[in-house]
Amino acid sequence: MSRAAQALVRPEGSPAELTFLGATGTVTGSRFLLEVQGRRILIECGLYQEREFAARNWDGFPVDPRSIDAVVLTHAHLDHSGYLPRLVQAGFAGPVWCTPATASLAEILWLDAARIAVEDARFKKRRHEREGRRGPHPELPLYTVADARRAIGLLRTADYRQRWSVAPGVRAEFRDAGHILGSATLTLRVRARGGERSITFSGDLGRTSEPPLHDPEPLAAPDYVVVESTYGDRGHAPADVLGELEAVVNSTVAAGGNVVIPAFAVGRAQDVLLRRKTLIDSHRIPRLMVFVDSPMATSVTALYRQYRSLLDPELAAAFNGRRSPFEFPGLTYVRSVEASKAINRIAGSTVIIAGAGMCNGGRIKHHLVTNIGRPDSTILFVGYQAQGTLGRRIVDGDNPVRILGEQRDVRARIARIDGFSAHADRDDLLRWILASERRPKQLFVVHGEAAATESLVAALRERGLDAAAPEFGERVALE
Ligand SMILES: [Zn+2]
Repeated sequence: MSRAAQALVRPEGSPAELTFLGATGTVTGSRFLLEVQGRRILIECGLYQEREFAARNWDGFPVDPRSIDAVVLTHAHLDHSGYLPRLVQAGFAGPVWCTPATASLAEILWLDAARIAVEDARFKKRRHEREGRRGPHPELPLYTVADARRAIGLLRTADYRQRWSVAPGVRAEFRDAGHILGSATLTLRVRARGGERSITFSGDLGRTSEPPLHDPEPLAAPDYVVVESTYGDRGHAPADVLGELEAVVNSTVAAGGNVVIPAFAVGRAQDVLLRRKTLIDSHRIPRLMVFVDSPMATSVTALYRQYRSLLDPELAAAFNGRRSPFEFPGLTYVRSVEASKAINRIAGSTVIIAGAGMCNGGRIKHHLVTNIGRPDSTILFVGYQAQGTLGRRIVDGDNPVRILGEQRDVRARIARIDGFSAHADRDDLLRWILASERRPKQLFVVHGEAAATESLVAALRERGLDAAAPEFGERVALE
């Protein structure tokens, strides 16, 4: 252990302390370090996904990973879990706690992230050699498939409402967060100087009354809360997602083109499929050929059957014997590259759902190349497009756009449906906190852009609560 890391370990008898190592002033890189009775527990182990913070993925971890006793993950999204293989590469070898569905998803996501990292490093190396320069980071992958496999080997699971011991004197409990399959809020009860203290981490909180998942379970009356604020300054406008999807599909079919939908493999791809099924069943759109052209989305969709008890009852009941709401006439899950290419040769209208959700990689690029120059086709965006991504440039109306090394004219219709969201809005967040049987002593607002976080802090203070937005690296005592 390095001297700096050693100096951070608090002796027995100190109060528990929490250090904010990420998701401060940004929505990615969630990492919170709890130190209690000489033990270290890392809550969340997220990747930074914005370009401006990417260096933090490469910097050494602020404490020696070998000095961390355990990691606990609220859900599998990479901004909460995707740094774990890197932590393992740097020496962490303790247990990684999560729900069973999160473990299944993390396995798929980490292996995919590792393969992409290896491919990207190879591509970057070639480019640098060609251009005779070097970038700020080594031309190495952040982690490899072998690192991801070692991380998978550390996964340990606990069900919702089960109480287990993370370390001596630290009891933990997950509750359903309703955000993605397996997502949880996490409450830790720690024995520290002055008696027991409890702290709840919201992870990402889902929406209320929005299938296909359960509503978030109530807050467990903790002393402290670390709460996300992705939509801390906004409400979700009431949206007629089905009506919008119906209009896009029908107008594209009338024109004779394809509907190309870039979608995230976890959650969004399945949401789109379920809405399509509803529209087909009620004869609002024709029975077109639909392709899910993403091996990852296909693997994730299969998990919905395995974990159907986590779905809202109506959807869970739709899995009956061999029946599945994710199987309907005309729907094909595409695995091989040859089959993926063959889609482009089909005459007549089709719907193509492919990753990556922001068009910055994956098979979607090939479908864009085929369709973006066709005035009869529609590129339909159903998710957030981050700054600097190809998806964002298309949504912003750039024309031409560079795809796979060539400038392409945009002649296709560009459409957006904003009503899909897996995040609680401001009212949902406030309701979840205020419904607690006991008022939390203090709230730490994280995981938002500055304006969203500040707005939620202000709203909580107006309601008489002690809330603050911690800074990167800030350490607080849980007295
Ligand atoms: Zn998430």
